[in-house]
Amino acid sequence: MHSLTRNDFQAGAAATGQDDISSNELRVLRDLLQLLPAGVTVQDEQGQFILVNEAAASQLQLAASATQPPPVDERHAANLDLLRSGRPVVLEEVLSCGASKYVFLTAHRPVQIAGRNLLISASTDISEQKAFEDQLFRSAYYDELTSLPTRRVIEHRVNGLIRDDSQSHFALAFLDVDNFKHINDYYGHAIGDALLVELSKRLGLALRDTDILSRISGDEFLLLLNPISGNDEVAEFIHVMQERLKAPFFIEESEIFASTSIGVSLYPVHGRSYEALRQNADIAMYRVKNNGKGSIAFFDNSMEREALARMKIEQSLRLAILEKRFCCAFQAKVDIRTQEVKGIEALVRLRDDEGVIQAPGTFIDLAVELGLIDELTFLVLAEIVKSIDLINDTFGPTATISINVAAKQAGNLEFMRRFARAIEETGFPKRFMIEVTEDAFVTRTHFQDEILPILRGIGVGISIDDFGIGYSSLSALADITADEIKIDRSFITDIHQRPRSQGILRAIESLSEALGMTVIAEGIESYEELTYLQAATKIRYAQGYYFAKPIFLEDLRPATPVASESRASMSARPAQEGRQSYSRASGFRR
Ligand code: C2E
Ligand code: MG
Ligand code: MG
Repeated sequence: MHSLTRNDFQAGAAATGQDDISSNELRVLRDLLQLLPAGVTVQDEQGQFILVNEAAASQLQLAASATQPPPVDERHAANLDLLRSGRPVVLEEVLSCGASKYVFLTAHRPVQIAGRNLLISASTDISEQKAFEDQLFRSAYYDELTSLPTRRVIEHRVNGLIRDDSQSHFALAFLDVDNFKHINDYYGHAIGDALLVELSKRLGLALRDTDILSRISGDEFLLLLNPISGNDEVAEFIHVMQERLKAPFFIEESEIFASTSIGVSLYPVHGRSYEALRQNADIAMYRVKNNGKGSIAFFDNSMEREALARMKIEQSLRLAILEKRFCCAFQAKVDIRTQEVKGIEALVRLRDDEGVIQAPGTFIDLAVELGLIDELTFLVLAEIVKSIDLINDTFGPTATISINVAAKQAGNLEFMRRFARAIEETGFPKRFMIEVTEDAFVTRTHFQDEILPILRGIGVGISIDDFGIGYSSLSALADITADEIKIDRSFITDIHQRPRSQGILRAIESLSEALGMTVIAEGIESYEELTYLQAATKIRYAQGYYFAKPIFLEDLRPATPVASESRASMSARPAQEGRQSYSRASGFRR
């Protein structure tokens, strides 16, 4: 190692008016210099190194073996230039050695010591920090799973197009994979991810250099087609793209079919900013989803009105939850031979902003989508607890009480734990039954393995709702451990005239009998349907308007001023729900 002489140090110190450095101090300084993690060098005017500490020595060795940038001579010359310039600089230097890349941050400072011009350099290895920054950069601009550009890239490009060339015509397509959630639930996340990768490859085929396909979230993609000559060109291109998706995907021995719903907006007719174009493409995509999925729609203004109306419903639903504007109607499950009430089902109702009572068909799916359903389910339970005396008086103290739970909730372990705890805290958990649709059993969620045992543990019964219209097959029933199976109304309607439904009913009935499940026929409306069931089947229980429409308990209270007030607020309810006469002793009377 070259080094400065003691005199040099002393001269430098003297020049700054400080005391002499003792030889001991000098040794300490030198050792310290050696220990520093930063590389420190001192070069003279000829470029000779007169001091190199250990860290600097290994950096120089690295530089000598670097494949990029090559000649050491050039760096040498550059350092001399720095020295002569007399100004301090900080430089970032990248060295590539084979596959490894090193980045050093070096501060160069020309100094004069004892009349000699020297260049002092201190450099730090910032390779790790740089690699991290690179990774951050990549993850901001490239999707980790599919390696497609991210939302930012496409946004940046679209903004650029709008800014630089207002004459340009391009299309923005919003793609959403149909039923991806089901695929994920059924096959598991690993296969879901692999499917997204394969899908993105097929979607990306045949794009021009000026087009961009980007993945913007889970199963959503944005496609920029630029430039375009008109609608037809875009429609044709997307049609071919969707055809390509029709062949099955083979992933880990599974044959998976996938399709996408695609909404398109065109610049400039459908929006003059990225945000407007994306939103309108999204709105058009929504239209496709509602019309049966798997195809394409161009945005038009009527869709915007639709979207606005939807937003209004969303808002009022949020508000209704906040203000707890919900109530329950109760419908009896009846023994069709004795007319006795076996149990009741709580059916939620929403009182909208104008006081009109809405049936759940208008808001349950939305509540699930918006993540409001859990709160709503707790409101239903609270109303039952509050009304338990009236329920007992009306339907009998042993009548079971059924609560509907959406399939999505049924697979949510955290929610179901909380819900089970709340049911237990009522003090009468054994009275309750949970109604879930068969989807909850079929998709690979926690329901069957983890949630059922919890419910069983506290004595809550399980009922399969709307059986026959979901995804499962009859054979899947064999794996399901439920107490009750409710045959969907679509099989019961006009059953006496429909041999095919009769056959299905017989099959469900015998299977349920073998599995020890009680069968309930949903939606009996006519005497003919009832007599068919009584004559041709062993089904004991039914639920339907023929026996009882869902009723509000308020309507059963004696008319006190308070009760009549609350009745007044219910006056806008649909005509079918109203006062009914119940008699516990003799069972149920029409
Ligand atoms: P569901 O659980 O199958 O409930 C039976 C539905 O059929 C009720 O409709 C009931 O009023 C109706 N119904 C009963 N008998 C007849 C009949 O003879 N003819 C006809 N045409 N309909 C009959 P509702 O109250 O409109 O509820 C619709 C669905 O909303 C329910 O179907 C259930 O899936 C869901 N739902 C209701 N309350 C809740 C709730 O608190 N949470 C959740 N997640 N879903 C609920
Ligand atoms: Mg139900
Ligand atoms: Mg049902």
